[in-house]
Amino acid sequence: MNKELNRKLMTFCGKPLEAASDEEIYTALLNLVQELGQKNVKPVTGRKLYYISAEFLIGKLLSNNLINLGIYDDVREILKEAGKNLSDIEELEPEPSLGNGGLGRLAACFLDSLATLDLPGDGIGLRYHCGLFRQSFQNDVQSEAPDFWLTDNSPAEKTDIVYPVQLAGKEYSARLYKLKVTGYNGRTNSLNLFDLDTVDESLIADGISFDKTDIEKNLTLFLYPDDSDEAGRLLRIYQQYLMVSAGAQLILSECEARGCDFHNLADYAAIQINDTHPSMVIPELIRLLGEKGIDFEEAVQIVTDTCAYTNHTILAEALEKWPRHFLDQVVPQLMPVIEKLDALARTRTDDESCAIIDNWQVVHMANMDIHFTHSTNGVAALHTQILKDSELANFYRLYPEKFNNKTNGITFRRWLLECNPALAGEIETLIGPGFKQNADELEKLLDFTEDEQVLKQLTDIKKANKKALADWLYHKQGVTINPDAMFAIQSKRLHEYKRQQLNLLFLIHQYLEIKAGHTPAVPLVSIFGAKAAPAYTIAKDIIHALIALSKVVAADPQAAPWLQIVFVENYNVTAAEKMIPACDLSEQISLASKEASGTGNMKFMLNGALTLGTMDGANVEIAERVGNDHIYIFGQSSKQVIDRYAKGDYCSHDWYESDPNIRRAIDFLCGPEMLKAGHEENLSRLRNELLHKDWFQTLPDFNAYLVRKGQAMADYAHSPQEWSRKALVNIAKAGFFSSDRTIAEYNRDIWHLGK
Ligand SMILES: *Cc1c(COP(=O)(O)O)cnc(C)c1O
Repeated sequence: MNKELNRKLMTFCGKPLEAASDEEIYTALLNLVQELGQKNVKPVTGRKLYYISAEFLIGKLLSNNLINLGIYDDVREILKEAGKNLSDIEELEPEPSLGNGGLGRLAACFLDSLATLDLPGDGIGLRYHCGLFRQSFQNDVQSEAPDFWLTDNSPAEKTDIVYPVQLAGKEYSARLYKLKVTGYNGRTNSLNLFDLDTVDESLIADGISFDKTDIEKNLTLFLYPDDSDEAGRLLRIYQQYLMVSAGAQLILSECEARGCDFHNLADYAAIQINDTHPSMVIPELIRLLGEKGIDFEEAVQIVTDTCAYTNHTILAEALEKWPRHFLDQVVPQLMPVIEKLDALARTRTDDESCAIIDNWQVVHMANMDIHFTHSTNGVAALHTQILKDSELANFYRLYPEKFNNKTNGITFRRWLLECNPALAGEIETLIGPGFKQNADELEKLLDFTEDEQVLKQLTDIKKANKKALADWLYHKQGVTINPDAMFAIQSKRLHEYKRQQLNLLFLIHQYLEIKAGHTPAVPLVSIFGAKAAPAYTIAKDIIHALIALSKVVAADPQAAPWLQIVFVENYNVTAAEKMIPACDLSEQISLASKEASGTGNMKFMLNGALTLGTMDGANVEIAERVGNDHIYIFGQSSKQVIDRYAKGDYCSHDWYESDPNIRRAIDFLCGPEMLKAGHEENLSRLRNELLHKDWFQTLPDFNAYLVRKGQAMADYAHSPQEWSRKALVNIAKAGFFSSDRTIAEYNRDIWHLGK
């Protein structure tokens, strides 16, 4: 046992560990992590990165910090000897859900990799009092409640640093909170989060509704307030400007303290703009440099050299654009700068689609980013190609040298070492510990693809993880699932482009086949985790339909032994860490061309699941690495999809008319069994949507999906050993998807940190 650690923990507790409560030990552990992390804070020389993002979906921090500090096992042992259980203590920590999904989780993985690679790089964001809403199902429909995560011993430390920020002509004080980010055997960086002292949680009324106009009290209450009305959209601009103005002031003051004279800002700072939410940092920096006496032309050059932009989506509705009068109202001080930037951009091209302020007085944030940063990157090879070929083709012609790809990644510390210690331990036994810092070493696992004992071991680990998930689900939701069944998991935000509705149609089909006496090759447990945006009606209808179907199947003694459907409540990072290690088949079935990258796909692969997916986002690069024998690919290609949109001739009703399987599944949605289990309003709205719109082309991929999924189930049933061999190949080839690799590429091509 580690005596030194034991003594420290006791000192922090103020009593023997045996006599301390779990809460007291939790606080002591936070103090310990804080003290040890502080030792790894290092002075900055040369260029430092500021990763600005409206979201950091960091998840719980305690275990991750213990792992990164290299003391997880010691602490667990010490607690065990005192009769305490570390996982009980982990339960006490509230999850900071300061992000919606992939984009926010990526930012969190990047902070971990920056600190691990010993690179100077801090995050800048907002200290939301409530993260993404807490989801529950009331009467089989999604219901939203606020998710408070701030407690008295919150890990984000209050500082005395305050910056003035002008919002709608009034001055507010943005206070800085610092959250330490400790890398694995690396340095400690900071996540800088801004907040107003005046924000008032008692403003929250029913559910997640609140007075959206009382800026002083509501500014950082919620991550992404509902933007289905004008007050909500204005609030987003208020939030964004608070973040970038305070962030820009922090950057300038830190650089100045290190000797920067602002003319050479780009030698001291690199700023990465994570999607368009922080885009106003460009005009804000130009404005602030102007106050310091730097003229407009030079300020534009300095900011262009300092900033880089990441594009995360090609869904047109997600590329932010604001009516000019919104900005006139909230940030009048920026408008003269934005106007000058628009005029400057118009001297470079007369292509109207590249304008910052268009003819309808709408301000296009992404356009401003591309003109006035030195780098625009996509997040997977296919995504970047689509940006160059179609979505941003006009910009690519103008600035070919600015475009580059950085395929996303995930941190292996959280998504393997922390969430799947049994698998991590087995890997270490086989190939040594080097893979924890050099993920490419996982390829050494390929030496064991014919080793029956190793394959059996992998199967056993998966089985144990499935049992653990079953226990967790039983305690959480009271459902019992069969761990001997195949587990297929689709967990990600609920969105039509991700096509949970395709999975729904498959499950209806499977149920009806079982009823017709055609039992599948293996029993299937189909598990979902997904939150729908509060104002996204069809997404909520899909959740409802899946829950209604799960009731129909569970109540049917003929079908229940072969098929179970479970919707996990409140999908978040904590839930993901339980679900992903237990997965056999990873559902990555977005409409080709729509998922920029995906990172869930990488987490599942790393944990030994096989992917059932379309040729979309990073699935393409997964397929390239593992080879077609180790992945189940189906469906239209991105080219076919893009052509179909261009022609505009897709008619879902034709598919319904001509394909009896499709017709049977869609009609079942509003048949007597479903209407008995669910609500007619939701079910018929969803059926109509599929029948008359189906904007994300579910029906053309339906049969290919049936066939491929059936193939995967047959393979799983036929030979567990062969399945395990394929899983091993997936793990061995996952090294490329480490966010350490992604960050090294950003640094090599864009940031050049520490130099
Ligand atoms: C990884 C992750 C996501 C992103 O999943 P995708 O399948 O890439 O959309 C979303 N939410 C949570 C909690 C995650 O951990």
